[in-house]
Amino acid sequence: MTVTAESPTSFTSLNPATGEVVAEHPVLGADAVAKALTRAREAAGWWRGLSWKERRVRLLNIKGSLTRNLNRMAELIHEETGKTLQDAQLETIMAIEHLDWAARHARKVLGPRSVYPGIMSLNQKAVLEYQPLGVVGVIGPWNYPIFTPMGSIAYALAAGNTVVFKPSEFTPGVGVFLAEIVDAVVPEHPVLQTVTGLGATGAALASSPDVDKIAFTGSGPTAKKVMAACAQNLTPLIAECGGKDVAIVDAGANLDAAADSALWGAMSNAGQTCIGVERIYVVDESYDAFLAKLTEKARDLRPGFDREAAYGPITMPGQLDIIERHIKDALDNGGTAVVGGVESVRKPYVEPVVLTDVPESSAAVCEETFGPTITVHRVRDLDEAIERANATSYGLAGTVFSGDRSRAMDAARRIRSGMTSINAFAAFAMVAALPFGGVGESGFGRIHGADGLREFTRPKAITRQRFALPLNLTSFERTEKEMARVLQLVNLLHGRRYKR
Ligand code: NAD
Repeated sequence: MTVTAESPTSFTSLNPATGEVVAEHPVLGADAVAKALTRAREAAGWWRGLSWKERRVRLLNIKGSLTRNLNRMAELIHEETGKTLQDAQLETIMAIEHLDWAARHARKVLGPRSVYPGIMSLNQKAVLEYQPLGVVGVIGPWNYPIFTPMGSIAYALAAGNTVVFKPSEFTPGVGVFLAEIVDAVVPEHPVLQTVTGLGATGAALASSPDVDKIAFTGSGPTAKKVMAACAQNLTPLIAECGGKDVAIVDAGANLDAAADSALWGAMSNAGQTCIGVERIYVVDESYDAFLAKLTEKARDLRPGFDREAAYGPITMPGQLDIIERHIKDALDNGGTAVVGGVESVRKPYVEPVVLTDVPESSAAVCEETFGPTITVHRVRDLDEAIERANATSYGLAGTVFSGDRSRAMDAARRIRSGMTSINAFAAFAMVAALPFGGVGESGFGRIHGADGLREFTRPKAITRQRFALPLNLTSFERTEKEMARVLQLVNLLHGRRYKR
């Protein structure tokens, strides 16, 4: 879609805490996106032609520059999202860790390797390698504006692709600054370009026939639109969407540590975390003590934009109505607010809200709230906790607090989600070697780790015949006698019965 006189040609990013304008950015239309994709295609030929080492050195230098600019980047994130400066610094550190891992592991994970060809093909050298796709479109959210897109950008670049990045309209400056850093380190060709704009700019990227894969992170409803746009050209898609993650508190868990960690998982970044804790299931014997500790800690938290604030404002104004509706609905349906209540919604902030006795069918338990609210539920045992945890269409992550290692591992495996951490909140997100992504309405595909690198490649299989076999089965010269010998061999190799 071209930017016309009727469409806005620019938009402002606002500080959600103060309402001040952070900066003005252009709304780029389909023409500008198409031009960016053409430049990215040209750059892709050069970038994939570099050796693994040449790409690694450039990516490590981008990492170095981002590290030296960490405070400037964090300031920008702080201003555009309203999150605390320390949280913005932590987010940038996590992005740096991923960039480092992707740069250092791309060759090992993706480079050519020989594979065993099997007895029937012993005369073949079998080579597997992972080739870049070409140009990857990354569409990002605002809640973790550097960490989340970096999960795609770093891995796509390390795999040999170039990237066109559409940041959220709430955090365009972060995307623009990141592209400036990359440009300064890699001046030869635009390997990362940022296209600013609203949803239509993202739609132009997703519906273009000139993009080889879209890595989308955002809400489920937008993911469906992006998937429909991608379908026009059979463009493959990674969808990293929302969640309704649980924390489960088992018998024997360290309740002080569990309350501290679950509270952080629920309230940090004002609860605007895809893998944030939105529901807590506590086994009967631990419930009262855990709830007492959780509520005591929650009452101490204060939102604000100052250095002492625990968390910032709600970044996207429209979300305040959703949070308010979920609290009201929970209370109208028999829930109790043991910390805060409807009055906790004080625009643009929401003070901590802890709800108990909320029916499982209510919006606060079923839908993504994306605010500093939490529902706490008493359950009979771990089995019931897991059953309730899995009674959702989402499946992103989850946390288990337990004093028993094997019970915790078993519970972690049984939670229907892409990631689970035990006795710590979201520890997997910092482990760059581990894949990140959801199931069900939380999306599909993986970023991070070896799987994240492979997402931005196509596997290429090559065989090279080293010598001709005396029996050539794929020739019109094949005789019945030869085939009979082969059948004998196959029977010997595969025909035996195995004891159970
Ligand atoms: P959103 O869906 O509103 O927007 C995401 C991005 O899509 C933005 O850049 C937006 O401009 C763009 N967009 C909007 N309409 C589009 C269209 N028709 N075509 C293409 N692009 C379009 O999401 P949001 O509010 O920015 O982010 C919050 C959501 O993201 C939450 O649901 C959260 O759970 C989720 N999230 C998920 C992860 C994860 O890794 N799974 C990480 C962070 C956030």
